[in-house]
Amino acid sequence: MQSLSDKVALVTGASRGIGRAIAWELACRGAYVAVNYRSRKDLAESLQAEIEEMGGTALAIRADVGDPDEAAELVGQTVESLGRLDIVINNAGIWEGSRLEDVEPERLEALLATNLKSAFYVTGPALPIMKEAGWGRVVNISSVIGVTGYPGDTMYAATKAGLFGFTKSLARELARFGITVNAVVPGFIDTDMADDTGDETRERILKTIPMRRYGKALDVAELVAFLCESGDYITGQLFTVDGGYTI
Ligand code: NAP
Repeated sequence: MQSLSDKVALVTGASRGIGRAIAWELACRGAYVAVNYRSRKDLAESLQAEIEEMGGTALAIRADVGDPDEAAELVGQTVESLGRLDIVINNAGIWEGSRLEDVEPERLEALLATNLKSAFYVTGPALPIMKEAGWGRVVNISSVIGVTGYPGDTMYAATKAGLFGFTKSLARELARFGITVNAVVPGFIDTDMADDTGDETRERILKTIPMRRYGKALDVAELVAFLCESGDYITGQLFTVDGGYTI
């Protein structure tokens, strides 16, 4: 029997990058996976097809997780279609750099909604189901930028650091229900988001990573999968996967 064969997982932002790798890894361990996306239906459906081809179960579901109603609908649809909900991976995120004096209120709101408020909007409706089951996993994908900061990244860093407080407080709230809540803190990972920073920034960043390479989405996904299939006594923790960037 596979380690997650009786579980249902919801991965936000699973059409591309880190979320896609996480959804795949969970499916490989037997979980039924809700593959959330916002705009890339084609990619989410191709992942669903890949998972089905290897004998797994997946369902692509569109929702903007920065919208409370759409997030609640996403959880509802997951439970209705896949039967239950045991694992929530709050992964969806957007990056945007701006010097503080140029920060536009609506962009700040967009980053807060997608990167931080979404964790409230998605996890909240899932909790009654996990509590009833007496078992659950919540994994929040933060960033090393939330730990170290980065010039021009006040918006992004604030949203990612906010997830640390969310993780620790919720872990304390839920420990007695058998639900663990942890944060995974990636360094610089090769995805579309990392491409957005441009070649010059990338070269500068590479020199600061002791392993001298960007991570792979799989490096992050394997850690997330471990926390889901094991880690019964691990909660409220931050796990960094960054090639040594924050040493
Ligand atoms: P990515 O390649 O840009 O993919 C982002 C994913 O999030 C896509 O599937 C996208 O869906 C989805 N998404 C964006 N806004 C959404 C919304 N409002 N509702 C639902 N889905 C939404 O990013 P990534 O690099 O894989 O990043 C994944 C997570 O890791 C993010 O939280 C990011 O902050 C964090 N992270 C990334 C790095 C890195 O170096 N790459 C480092 C540290 C942390 P659509 O394409 O369908 O719109």
